[in-house]
Amino acid sequence: MDNLVVDNKKLWQGVLGEAEIALSKATFSTWFKDTEIITSDSTSIVIRVPNTFVKEWFEKKYEKDIIRKHFNKVLPALNKIDYVVGGKKQSETIFDQHPPKKIETRPIASKPVSKITIRETGDTPERLNPRYTFDSFVIGESNHLAQAASEAVAKSPGITYNPLFIYGGVGLGKTHLLQAVGNQILNLYPKKKVVYITCEKFTNELVDAIFKRTTREFKEKYRRVDCLLVDDIQFLENKESTQEEFFHTFNALYENNKQIILASDRPPKAIPALEARLRSRFEWGMIADISAPNFEMRLAVLKSKMVNSQIQLPDEILVAVAQKIQNNIRELEGALTRILAFGQLNNTIPTLEEVEGLLGGILTSPGKRFLKTSDVIKTVCKFYEVRKEELLGKRRNKEIVVPRQILIFLLREELDMAYTAIARELGGKDHTTIIHNYKKIKNLLLENNDMEMEIKSLREKLYAVD
Ligand code: ADP
Ligand code: MG
Repeated sequence: MDNLVVDNKKLWQGVLGEAEIALSKATFSTWFKDTEIITSDSTSIVIRVPNTFVKEWFEKKYEKDIIRKHFNKVLPALNKIDYVVGGKKQSETIFDQHPPKKIETRPIASKPVSKITIRETGDTPERLNPRYTFDSFVIGESNHLAQAASEAVAKSPGITYNPLFIYGGVGLGKTHLLQAVGNQILNLYPKKKVVYITCEKFTNELVDAIFKRTTREFKEKYRRVDCLLVDDIQFLENKESTQEEFFHTFNALYENNKQIILASDRPPKAIPALEARLRSRFEWGMIADISAPNFEMRLAVLKSKMVNSQIQLPDEILVAVAQKIQNNIRELEGALTRILAFGQLNNTIPTLEEVEGLLGGILTSPGKRFLKTSDVIKTVCKFYEVRKEELLGKRRNKEIVVPRQILIFLLREELDMAYTAIARELGGKDHTTIIHNYKKIKNLLLENNDMEMEIKSLREKLYAVD
C-alpha cells in the first residue's frame, strides 16, 4: 500500500474515533460504515459514502459536528469537503468485516484505539418494559388528560383517538405511558401486534434497510402492526427521508384504523423542521400534554414507589424530598433510589440530616440568582439545535428568529437583564428591537399554549441539575 492510502486511512480513523465517542453505537455504525477518504491534501478532502442518504446527512450534520471538528485539529487549512457516492472502497476500514454481528477493530493509528463493537441495527423493535403499566402510573393534575386518553386508546385501539400525541418535558412519564398502552393492549388483545420504537431507532432501521436493499421488508413490517408506538418523535426533525417514510407508514396504518401513538418533548407546532403535511397528520387526533407535577403528586409518586420497598421511609422524609425535588419524576425516583441504597447499606433508616446530605447535589440546584447569560444561551442553542453564532448573529431566517426572540425573553424574565444589556449581548442591536421581540413572545404566551409549553420546558432545562 502506498503512503497516501495509509494516511487517508489514519485520517479517517481519527474521525471515526470521534464519531464513536459522540454517537450511540447503532447510530455510529449506521452512518459511518462503508465510508472512507479517497483523496486528501492540505486544503481539500474527498470522502466516499455508500449512498446519497448518507451524503445528505453528513453534509447537514456530521460534517459540521464531527468531521470538520476533527480535521480542524490535524488539517487547519482544510476548506473543501466533497463526497463521492457509491463505488468500491479502496482500503480496509474497521467496518470491513461486516456483517458479522460483533467485530473488533485493529488499531491503525499508533495510539491504541478502543474496542468498537458494531451491533446490527436489525429488526428488533424494543421490548416493552413490564414495569411500565397503568397500575404503576400515578395520576395527578399534570398528567390526567394524557393518562385518560392513553387508557381510552388501550381499551379500544384505533377507534377513540387516533393518533394520540403526548408531549411534555423530560422525565415526566411519556415513555411510561406509551409502554403502558402497549402492555395493556397485549393484555386485552393478545393477538394484536404492538410495536414500540424510538424515533431514532426507526431512523436507523430505515437507513439500514436502504443499505441492505430491504426497504420493502421494512415497509411491510411497519405496515403490518396493529398499534405503533413511536417515542421521542422530535427526533424526526431535519430527517427528510425518515419523515417521508414515516408519512407513508402513518397513512397506511391510519387508513386501516390501526392505532398510532406518538410521544415528544414538545408539541408538533414547536418542531419547526417537521414537514407541514406530517405535522398536520399529528394534529388530526388528540394532543395531550404532561406538565411538571405539583407537590401532592410528587408525594404520591414517592409513596407509590415505597410499596414494594424493603425499607419504609417515614413521611417526614418523603415530604422533604417532594418539597425539594420539583422538576420531574425521574429525578424524584433517582433521589429515592439514593436514599434507599444508603439505608440498605447502613441497615438503618436515614435521618433527615443524612437525607439532606445525600441529596446535597440536588438540593443546591442553581436558583434564579445563579443563572448566567451563557447558561441561557447554551440552553436555547441546544434546545433548538442552532449554533451560538447564528443565535447571536444578524441573519433573520425563520429557523433562527423565534429561538432568538425566546432567548431575549428568557434573558429578560429569568435574569432581569436590562434591554440595553440584552441588546449588547446580541451584537449591538437597537434596544427597541429587543423590546419588540420580548413583547412578541410575551403576547404569544397569552394566546398560545404551545409557546407556554416550550418556555416551560426551557425553564426546566435551565434549572435542571445533571
Ligand atoms: P419521559 O419519557 O417523559 O422522559 P419516563 O416515562 O421515562 O419519562 O419517566 C421517567 C421515570 O419516572 C420512569 O421511571 C417512570 O416510571 C417514572 N414516572 C413518570 N411518571 C410517573 C407517574 N405518573 N407515576 C409513576 N411513575 C412515573
Ligand atoms: Mg422518554
